[in-house]
Amino acid sequence: MIILKIGGSILTNKDAPESEVDSKSLKRIASEIKRSLDNSSKELIIVHGAGSFGHPPAKKYKIGEAFDKDEYPQKRIGFCEIQNAVKKLNMLICEEFISQGLPVIAIPASSFMTASLKRITDGDLNIFKDYLSKGFVPVIYGDVVLDKELEFCVISGDQIIQYLSSNLNPEKVVLGTDVDGVYNKNPKTHDDAVFYEKFSSIEDLDALEGTTNVDVTGGMVGKIKELLYLADLGIESKIINAEIEDNIYKVLENEDVKGTVILRS
Ligand code: ADP
Repeated sequence: MIILKIGGSILTNKDAPESEVDSKSLKRIASEIKRSLDNSSKELIIVHGAGSFGHPPAKKYKIGEAFDKDEYPQKRIGFCEIQNAVKKLNMLICEEFISQGLPVIAIPASSFMTASLKRITDGDLNIFKDYLSKGFVPVIYGDVVLDKELEFCVISGDQIIQYLSSNLNPEKVVLGTDVDGVYNKNPKTHDDAVFYEKFSSIEDLDALEGTTNVDVTGGMVGKIKELLYLADLGIESKIINAEIEDNIYKVLENEDVKGTVILRS
């Protein structure tokens, strides 16, 4: 089984004021995945980020922060707005995948997962196994879920990667984003950033500058924290650049791709 994350930074324009899909990237990535599945059948789960569809409303409604009782109706409608926005993105993604012949089936986190203090605590994954066994490609994405302590929270695609991987024990966990992997500091804002082929400690970062965009779930730092947690369980993962043509195809085909492997030393 392979668990593949496609970052919101690839599928949407996270800096745009309006929610926009990057159709060119979406088409290319769908075709890379299709080409690989046509070569040989494999069990694949796709996780995608919320990108520009989820983060702006999540920021606006401050979902995940404590609030007074009288704010409840406003928070609740915010929750609905976010759930609908990320569902829209997922629908556009699935539409493209299906049109290219990929048998994707959406399994939204908000419909079966719950959290406590922003961490997923419950979510029965048997349905993933059932769909996989019938040759489907389950798709799940960054979403809002009910939280036992905070009422509502946002869970990132990266946290979902961690939850799925620790419960399903995949052979391979890959995260495609818009940079080559992990650097000692943000490569988009520092020309002298140093690239890591292997990464095993958050202390190797010079600055905890999550991301350059509107991400509410921690950007690269959030991602690394989830993946280090997986590494603690003995599950290695790799961050690669999904903007580079054929990287997703190659990684699915076990070919060598530049990237950062997250592991415990
Ligand atoms: P995605 O939406 O693909 O999951 P994010 O936007 O959450 O990706 O995180 C990727 C971004 O993190 C990069 O575009 C980069 O600007 C930023 N970033 C911040 N610090 C680092 C770092 N140390 N190494 C690599 N990227 C970093």
